[in-house]
Amino acid sequence: MIRKFKIRKDDNVIVIAGKEKGKTGKVIRVLPDKAMALVEKLNMVKRHQKPTPKYPQGGIIEKEAPIHISNLMIICDKCKKGVRVGRKFLEDGKKVRFCKSCGEVLDR
Ligand SMILES: [Zn+2]
Repeated sequence: MIRKFKIRKDDNVIVIAGKEKGKTGKVIRVLPDKAMALVEKLNMVKRHQKPTPKYPQGGIIEKEAPIHISNLMIICDKCKKGVRVGRKFLEDGKKVRFCKSCGEVLDR
């Protein structure tokens, strides 16, 4: 079963729980089977990297670790904060996400 998540790549989100609470960033990848997302520059972890063509030096690199989607909220541009998101159909039949606080459509 594929679960549908309200958070997608390129969304601006705020972290609402955990050690990165209160920080904001852009979603760079969603991992739907794990219900997790990678957020740019958040939840960074140091990893030991063996030399590869991409990292010929090897050594320690920093990269984003996934954050559980339930710990993230989408930021509404109008409300300037993390908001609950609903779904609705536009008159042309297009399905969009909207801010439950102000009604602003979040998909462009
Ligand atoms: Zn809003």
